[in-house]
Amino acid sequence: MIEADLILRGARLLTLGPLKDERPRVGVAAGDVGAVNDGFVAARDGMIVATGHGRTHERFTRVEGALDKDVGGRVVMPGFVDPHTHLCYAGERWEEFATRRSGADYLAVLAAGGGIHATVRATREASDDQVLALLRRRIGDAAELGTTTIEVKSGYGLEPEEELRQLRLLARAKAEAPIDIAVTYLAAHALPAPFTDDRKRFIREATRALERVVDEKLAEAVDAFVEKGVFDIEDVRPLFNAAKKAGLAVTMHADQLNDVGASAFAARIGARSADHVAHASADGIRALARAQIPAVLLPGSAFFVGYAPPEARRFITARVPVALASDHNPGTSPLEGMPTAIALGVTLCGLTPHEAIVAATINAAHALGRGGRIGALLHGRRADIVVLDTDDERELAYRMGAPLVAEVYAAGRRVA
Ligand SMILES: [Zn+2]
Repeated sequence: MIEADLILRGARLLTLGPLKDERPRVGVAAGDVGAVNDGFVAARDGMIVATGHGRTHERFTRVEGALDKDVGGRVVMPGFVDPHTHLCYAGERWEEFATRRSGADYLAVLAAGGGIHATVRATREASDDQVLALLRRRIGDAAELGTTTIEVKSGYGLEPEEELRQLRLLARAKAEAPIDIAVTYLAAHALPAPFTDDRKRFIREATRALERVVDEKLAEAVDAFVEKGVFDIEDVRPLFNAAKKAGLAVTMHADQLNDVGASAFAARIGARSADHVAHASADGIRALARAQIPAVLLPGSAFFVGYAPPEARRFITARVPVALASDHNPGTSPLEGMPTAIALGVTLCGLTPHEAIVAATINAAHALGRGGRIGALLHGRRADIVVLDTDDERELAYRMGAPLVAEVYAAGRRVA
């Protein structure tokens, strides 16, 4: 007998299944949301115990205090997974936002000590309590917009000691968060001033900090900004090798503004994902396809900075798993929430609405190494569920900015 403490029924249910195996979705499956009309999902103790359609749920036992609800034909789908954000910062960048015109300008702003350096200063000057309060608010805002798993990077400390401070604050935020947080140590975001003439020494120190990251269980993955004039492949190779050896996943900002061969490099070293990839070469795309490494498209920064967005069809036709993320950060992608990322993924990158939903759920889960646990409404997965205020999920892409997220459940508990 199935016992449930949460049943949502009478739904247009997007299961994002059936999945043949635990691999990310490519090819035809990249646009298949597994829709079931008159569907239901049942959960117990935070895990999904059954999904189906019609009235079979009537046989289930409702435990005391169970929430049993007819959603009236509205869409019920997996909670969104946002696999790339920089939520851990203080300070806004209004001036830069108001004056910047193009991606080329972004590198010029960076060289002039603006850009990320402005955020680094503000974040260092903010107290622990201030940073924690900001993190709490941003995680709460993400949950309101339907995100039930979010990756958050450090990266505005630059110097290893400051990065460790951010990671420790993230650990505190994670412990009390209503949704799941995947923490990433962004070890090489920009070269801090004291190391201007010695990037090798900087990488050595960032690599040394890995030991404490592992000892204190501060992060699941290590990230680096591999870009012209920032860090090149040879710079970051020792860092990534050490990270893998220590049992951490590796991910990178790859080929965002220029093709520097980072996508192929990500494939070679078995990265968890390759992110941005707007300028990935054909070789880079083939390498990602062969290794089945998700390409995380971040249309928000293309939109705000004004550079050419990644063309999703190049990845989809090559059978690269495609994921979407908000890339929320104060400099290049201040957008909030996955519905906006979905809308931009469709209008700017050329995904279909259903491909964008796959990219924001199951494929994004794979980009965080959680492809077997979340991202789909299937028996045995965490009950991370969103109810939309519509009977057509394509509205997520179409009615940009509309308040479509009506209810959000994380591990079976209502969080928004
Ligand atoms: Zn980023």
